[in-house]
Amino acid sequence: MIEDLIRANPPQYDELEKRSIDYIQHLKGATRPFSILLFLMPAVLLIIWIFFIESVLLLGLSVAIYIATVLVAIFARYRTEKRYRELTVSFGYYIIHSDYSMYTIRMASIVLTVLIFVLVETYRGFNQIEFFSVVIAFIVVSFILSVYSPRFVRYEKMSTQIQSEVIRSGVSHIASSTSMPEFTIRIVPEKKMKVANAYCTGILSNKVYVTDYLLENLTENEALVILAHELGHVIYRHNLKTLALTFFLLFASAVMFFSYLYISNELASALLTQAGIFLFILGIPALVPAVKRGYELQADMFASRFQTEEAAVNALLKTNYLNLTPVQASGGITHPPLPIRINRMRRAIKMRDLKAKF
Ligand SMILES: [Zn+2]
Repeated sequence: MIEDLIRANPPQYDELEKRSIDYIQHLKGATRPFSILLFLMPAVLLIIWIFFIESVLLLGLSVAIYIATVLVAIFARYRTEKRYRELTVSFGYYIIHSDYSMYTIRMASIVLTVLIFVLVETYRGFNQIEFFSVVIAFIVVSFILSVYSPRFVRYEKMSTQIQSEVIRSGVSHIASSTSMPEFTIRIVPEKKMKVANAYCTGILSNKVYVTDYLLENLTENEALVILAHELGHVIYRHNLKTLALTFFLLFASAVMFFSYLYISNELASALLTQAGIFLFILGIPALVPAVKRGYELQADMFASRFQTEEAAVNALLKTNYLNLTPVQASGGITHPPLPIRINRMRRAIKMRDLKAKF
């Protein structure tokens, strides 16, 4: 069992890396065909619908086929996770609780919205301002949902207080070391899904959630590294900054897109409109996650003020391996790769200890 390996001292990280790579490879093998299918299918369905038969029945059928494929894709993932991560939950539980299924369902709802959008466009038509405001409204709503997602709304109901005295006093030590915005920390039950994670949610008042699965498998000092990282997000107000940046970029792209309304020079307004579209489609999805990766490093730097190098490195490695993520494949769109995070934290802690000596 992976939990026993992680609890063992010294932790056998080579073994865990091998297991994680094995798991990820099986997962990719099981889900890749569906990922490609889910990516291509909407385009194929749209082309058939627009160029061949513009019927409501066909659109309905396309939507049904698409939903069925989404469910089959989630099931493929569920089966692999059940086997390799030894999950004991039912498929229904998995759909409601897994990040992957929530993500897939969100993507599917975007695709379906686009399909319905095309239907309205064909039968009634949008003017440009209507068109753009619907798109912006959709993005704003999905962004707010991702900050205050149903997952976190549910978390609040299920959450409990931290019992450990070591963790509680550690947290108040961190909070008293600097002027913190308002925050609360709650434990959420994720043992069944075997999720080892912590989240910072909220915009003005922050709520940090940490999973029971993480607390059970990390030492108290390691857990404090993870919590200090989340408190780093709180103190630098990362959620608020991300929201402000996203809204600003959306506003900027809208102002550029509609430049023909206030600029009489045709060439200039045409260029600005193109730039607005470019910012909207490519700029925002690239810029916001890039800024977020920077925030992760900033939160790590905050966390490295409070613990030993050993606790910091073990906290990151254990959390990764508890979720069966190989270090090789760690990081992604919103988080920098683990080796970068670990090296930066190591360096910061060494500097801190060096300064303390003199
Ligand atoms: Zn973070």
